[in-house]
Amino acid sequence: MANSGPGDPLAFASLRKTPSPTILALDRWRPAPTLGSGGEKSVVGEDVETLKRRLPLLDYLRQHNWTGHPASRSEFVGLCPLHEETRPSFYVNTRKNVFYCHGCGQGGDLIRFIQLSRHLSFRQSLARLDLQTSPTVDSAAVLEQAAAFYQRQLDHYPEAMRYLNRRGVQDPALIRELEIGYAPGGSLRRHLTAQGYSFDLLRQAGLLNVNGSDAFYQRIVFPLRQGEHVVNLYGRSIGAAFAHRFLPGAKGGLYAWEKVRHYPEVIVVEGLFDFAVLRQAGFQNVTCSLGTHLNTDQFRQLYDGLRTVHLAFDVDANQSGQRAAELLAHRLDAKGIAARRVLLPEGQDPNSFFVQGGDGRQFQSLVEAAQP
Ligand SMILES: [Zn+2]
Repeated sequence: MANSGPGDPLAFASLRKTPSPTILALDRWRPAPTLGSGGEKSVVGEDVETLKRRLPLLDYLRQHNWTGHPASRSEFVGLCPLHEETRPSFYVNTRKNVFYCHGCGQGGDLIRFIQLSRHLSFRQSLARLDLQTSPTVDSAAVLEQAAAFYQRQLDHYPEAMRYLNRRGVQDPALIRELEIGYAPGGSLRRHLTAQGYSFDLLRQAGLLNVNGSDAFYQRIVFPLRQGEHVVNLYGRSIGAAFAHRFLPGAKGGLYAWEKVRHYPEVIVVEGLFDFAVLRQAGFQNVTCSLGTHLNTDQFRQLYDGLRTVHLAFDVDANQSGQRAAELLAHRLDAKGIAARRVLLPEGQDPNSFFVQGGDGRQFQSLVEAAQP
């Protein structure tokens, strides 16, 4: 964990020494007339706001080795990259996607930051940002196409539907909503190259192996989205191959988080098949961490607002799911988030619970009985 908690002495010390409430300082900053409002287009023709959304300021700063500590729900504080200092006075507001430094008085959005830190003009900064983010556009587009192709295959392979049914996933509307597909293997490369995608791009996106064959072979596929973009694919083997696979690159945040984040109580599960059966049973407030180890983004999402988090991880023989849940509950607790562990019967996960005849009402009572 790179971030320290709100109890971190550094974060508190810097807050006490801050002359005025940070949020007011940030409110004073208004975008210059050229920023966004004038319909500025970047080199690839996207408007400035889209570009900034795709690469949030905090992500950009972290890519450039800036370390900040949480200062409030939506603020991070750290040393200013724009002037020499020993006490942190550089604030990043993640909700407004802007920064403000109490030391040098500079503030603004990502483009303003690039202008100041690289001594570039507005146009030059925009071009630099474009270069940095455009490969993502290509790979998001090709992942989108791959996901759509896999989705169309599902109906043609009875073994795929049989597997879904065996895992308790039957509802056609849910299968469509989650964009579940099937990778038979051996036909994606031909399809995408025929559409004009280069071999290099397919390799780069991880859709092809080193030897040029499809990376996913006989796998149920779930696209993982971040906002509108597909950022990765999860493939569950229906055969003897290694069960879980992702493409190289980040998994993104919590699954379907945008639909879940406003609930006062959320249920977090490990796997997408756990997620699917819970949704099918009518639970809307469920999200998935794609494994027991949460990345920084996923962890931050869980404490970006006040809520109770129910962790419904596997109860497996080696206790790894429950140990991970316990650890995560402690970390959330330190962020002021109430976390509870849902105790499933021995040897079960939410998926097997439903597959073996458990129903929504029974699961709900386990959620209500969850332990801190
Ligand atoms: Zn500064």
